[in-house]
Amino acid sequence: MLGPRPQSSSHTVPAAPVRPVDLACVPMPLNWKSKAKPNGKKPVPEEKKLYLEPEYTKSRATDFEFKELVTLPREIDLNEWLASNTTTFFNHINLQYSTISEFCTADTCQTMAVGSTQYYWYDERGKKIKCTAPQYVDFVMSSVQKLVTDEDIFPTKYGKEFPNSFESLVKKIFRYLFHVLAHIYSAHFKETVALELHGHLNTLYTHFLLFIREFNLVDPKETAIMDDLTEVLCSNSGNSSSASGSSGGTENGGGAAAQNHVKER
Ligand SMILES: [Zn+2]
Repeated sequence: MLGPRPQSSSHTVPAAPVRPVDLACVPMPLNWKSKAKPNGKKPVPEEKKLYLEPEYTKSRATDFEFKELVTLPREIDLNEWLASNTTTFFNHINLQYSTISEFCTADTCQTMAVGSTQYYWYDERGKKIKCTAPQYVDFVMSSVQKLVTDEDIFPTKYGKEFPNSFESLVKKIFRYLFHVLAHIYSAHFKETVALELHGHLNTLYTHFLLFIREFNLVDPKETAIMDDLTEVLCSNSGNSSSASGSSGGTENGGGAAAQNHVKER
């Protein structure tokens, strides 16, 4: 039996820098949203994507079969599984970002860019907030932190129910955490390699993307920006049908997310 999910507040990553944020700009967590928009400028000829070099893509912290790791275990409630994984991914991505955060500054990353795409933060009134990448990441992390520690949204006490908005909030969280991971690859991969943490980053990304796919948490259009990487990293991680197919049922792992769709609300 599962014990109670640990309170994520106790998992706050100490290494994550606390940046001064204009509090007036911090959006209410329940309404936060952002949009990606091409920045209109001529695309800068893209630098060669270092993170696609085989030398780096083959680096993982573990060769675990992620497909098995993301599948909803029998007897575990779907929401409970989503909640526990959301909290874990949040902590890991926060930690991974903290390793390069000293290089992600208002000077180096004036906008939240992933390649030629820019993300903008929108406050609770739908007002576009111009922000640097570190500010955007702060918005994401503080909003998610607030949500995952809200007992009404991520209940940890026995018998307490998940709210109706739970799944849609989880989807939002995954979408924003994806932006953070994509930014690390696109703007800070060199530093990650210098720290010899690209194996961890690749592993985290693979696990994260397969989890997203398994439960249909993020629109594929949103993640398309990193499809080249996803293809390389995830193609060897589980899409290759679970050959030994223990419980005999799905002979084609290709249908992938078919079973555990999270319904759109
Ligand atoms: Zn940055």
